[in-house]
This record gives sequence, C-alpha cells and structure tokens, in this order.
Amino acid sequence: MRQLIAGNWKMNTVTAEAAALAQALRNGVPGCDVLVCPPATQLVAVAGILAGSPVAVGGQDCHWEAKGAHTGDISAPMLRDAGASWVILGHSERRANHAELDETVREKAVAAAAAGLAPIVCVGETDEQRSAGRETEVVGWQLAGSLPKDFAGVVAYEPIWAIGSGKSATEEDVETMHAFIRAELLRQFPETGAAMRILYGGSVKPSNAASLLALPDVGGALVGGASLVAQDFLAIARAARPG
Ligand code: PEP
Repeated sequence: MRQLIAGNWKMNTVTAEAAALAQALRNGVPGCDVLVCPPATQLVAVAGILAGSPVAVGGQDCHWEAKGAHTGDISAPMLRDAGASWVILGHSERRANHAELDETVREKAVAAAAAGLAPIVCVGETDEQRSAGRETEVVGWQLAGSLPKDFAGVVAYEPIWAIGSGKSATEEDVETMHAFIRAELLRQFPETGAAMRILYGGSVKPSNAASLLALPDVGGALVGGASLVAQDFLAIARAARPG
C-alpha cells in the first residue's frame, strides 16, 4: 500500500509563507503520496503553485451542507472549487474547540464524498482515556460513529496526548491501535476495509518518521508542526516505505 504523508498547516501561514512553503514542496517525493492542507485563505494560492506537481492539496474541515446560512463555514464544494481534492475531518482540535460529535463528522464525510473530496477522518483518545485503559473502546466508538456506511477515505489515528507535545506514541502503541482499527474497518466495511489507509499522527518528525512508517499497517502520517518546515516535511516523506 502506497503511503500518504499529509501536512496539516492548521491556523498558520499568511500568503507569503504559504507560497514559500508550497514552492519548496513542489517536486514532492517519489514513492509516496504527499498532501498539504493549508488554511482556507491560502488554498487557492497553494493549489495554484502546486498545480501540475505530484503534491495534492486539501482542506482542514468542511460543513455538512453544500451551501446556505452558515456564517464563517466553508462547504465541501467550495474546497473543491478552490483546488482541494482532500479534506481532514474530525481533527481532535475541531472535536474539542467546536464540540464536533461523531455524528457531525459522519455528515461531513458524506458531504465531502458528494463533492469529490477524499476525507481523512481523525480518531484518537485523550491521556485520561488511555490511562484508564479505555483507548480502544473510545476509538471503536469514534470509528463506528464517524464513518458513513459507504466510506471510501482514510482514517488517521491521532492520540490527543501525542499531538503537538513532542512525544509520539510508542511503536507498540501504534502497532496495537492500528491492528485494532484495521479489525474495526474490516468489520464495518467487509469489502473495502482491507485497502483503507490508516495514518498515524502525533509528533511525527524526521527523527522518528522512519521507525513509525515502517510499522505494519501504518499507511502514512498526518503531520502538524513538522509540516510547516519544508525540509522536515520532505524528510518525513522520504522516510515513507517505498510502494
Ligand atoms: C496534528 O495536529 O494533526 C498533528 C499530528 O500535530 P503534530 O504533528 O504537531 O503533533
């Protein structure tokens, strides 16, 4: 399975910074799929710079409706129109800061697919949930609630305690959780679940990328902080398993 290295720029970059970052990534990295998800205000510019390159562009969220009275929101067709082909959904920062429920994430995934966007649906447990031994239970509920019945996208396992903390999950944690997620995907999608990519996200950096990306059933990485530094993001992409 070809690995996907996705960069989530979050609420970072003004135009000159986004353009410089996109220019530096234009050639991508052979052997893996590369995606960047800039802030919505930078999508058109970044998509323009990356047009014709192997690097795809995605949004960081979308509304569940195609248009209407939703001040401040962005719809999936708008992202598509701006040049996106992917969208991140249900990131833990959206779940926490915007009270997004699994059901909301599921409706957004339906809207994304209808607009021709490939969704990356994020799941992951808090520190407290892991300490209580509830991590697979929590992720199981998130998968059951967030993925629509005809889901055809990517799942990103992002333990919340590993995001932006500098402390990634251990290889054993990642292996165990990815095996659990695979089993859940096969249960929910017996025909297609085997081929769905499962990304790991949470403090992926050049120094740990190769070991994390070499683990069984890691289909790539969702990268936050390190995706804002072109040479770090490219180093992570170069660590992808050739496929
Ligand atoms: C993220 O927020 O999706 C993420 C993985 O962030 P970081 O790489 O900075 O931990």
